[in-house]
Amino acid sequence: MIYFSTNKSSIPVSIKKATLEGLAPDGGLYVPSEIPHFSPGEIALLEGASFNNIAFAIAKKFIGAEIPLDLLGDMIENCYTFETPLVELNSDTFIEELFCGPTLAFKDYGARFLARLTGYFAAEDNRLITVLVATSGDTGSAVAYGFQGIANTRVVLLYPSGKVSPLQEQQLTTAGGNVHALEVKGDFDDCQRMVKQAFVDPSLSKKLTLTSANSINISRLIPQSFYYAWATQQLRERFGNVEPLFAVPSGNYGNLTAGILAKKMGFPISHFIAASNANDSVTRYLYDGRYDPHPTITTRSTAMDVGNPSNFARLRYLYNNDHAAMGRDITGIAVADKETLETIRSVYERFGYTADPHTAVAFRALELYRSSGESAGKPGVVLSTAHPAKFLEVISDALDREVEIPERLKEVLNKKKMAVTISSDYNELAMFLNGLDC
Ligand SMILES: *Cc1c(COP(=O)(O)O)cnc(C)c1O
Repeated sequence: MIYFSTNKSSIPVSIKKATLEGLAPDGGLYVPSEIPHFSPGEIALLEGASFNNIAFAIAKKFIGAEIPLDLLGDMIENCYTFETPLVELNSDTFIEELFCGPTLAFKDYGARFLARLTGYFAAEDNRLITVLVATSGDTGSAVAYGFQGIANTRVVLLYPSGKVSPLQEQQLTTAGGNVHALEVKGDFDDCQRMVKQAFVDPSLSKKLTLTSANSINISRLIPQSFYYAWATQQLRERFGNVEPLFAVPSGNYGNLTAGILAKKMGFPISHFIAASNANDSVTRYLYDGRYDPHPTITTRSTAMDVGNPSNFARLRYLYNNDHAAMGRDITGIAVADKETLETIRSVYERFGYTADPHTAVAFRALELYRSSGESAGKPGVVLSTAHPAKFLEVISDALDREVEIPERLKEVLNKKKMAVTISSDYNELAMFLNGLDC
């Protein structure tokens, strides 16, 4: 399989190059030259398969012979050591819980796979790859715990001092080993500026191979298609041939794009509801075909606060820029903060289920979509992207009850914080990076 850039002016590359580079030289995002296909017969053969077997069947088509199959199988076993439960709220609404990984958010699915691929490709060339990321939350912790202990890789992450929650800070600063946390006396924009400068600093590139691990990397996207395929198989085992709807809480639209890959691969999915908060640039595009991104607005579903989503370019490419074709597969629905809190309350009252704010946005969007009379009788799957314990403040504003903190989160809370404090002066970052062993 080869990979093209969405900007169409870079030469096609292998999965190895696409993974290690992240962004194409022409500034575009990598997309597969063709989307691998599963025939109905192949899909029937996956009946009863485990999550990891389904993941392997998909990964093998995207990666081809570039990784020996037994090693690819081992990597997947190491990635997904946790469950992906499909919880039934009622006979036609399900919640797919994507928060059972080490950092309690769905970004573990992409980051853990990307980390292992990066480690494998770096080892082939006998290189040490330094992943440099600026983070204000979930991505950084998924990257820290995803790359932890992966040979031939190390991570340097920058976070703004005092601007992440205490829980997030613990997740960012406790991985240890090959993961270095830098607490920057500045804001998130300072962190991003410093990282950008490091990527173009010739004195560093002589010494280090730097790469980023943000959500534009194709090797973070491919593994996110696994749990769509898994949910369709689970429903098929329950109901026979059905075509579920998926409601996806969206920020950079990577999660949604991975769902589109799953549908185009042939997994039975009837429609997507792209749920957003007040950051509705793509929602409005889906409605009228005009893309007019707004500055980012802060909401209660913070992980979806993105004014100009990075994966929109990939989404457009996958539909040949055809707005009507995209609209046949995806409906965009925006949900306001007030409704998000009301939904957390009503889901708890009706089902005894505590949804995190991002999950609540998607739940509400599915309800609104159905109330317009669409897709009656089709099962709906709401993707739950985070554990409610990650957003205790929002939950306590919505409900009169405490959320139970899962054991794996308590463990992280008890670990020792390890971070080096630097100012927002780029030279301090350069000094730190130059001081790392090679
Ligand atoms: C990152 C994130 C999202 C948004 O996912 P995208 O792939 O960027 O659309 C939604 N919910 C949570 C909890 C997240 O961490």
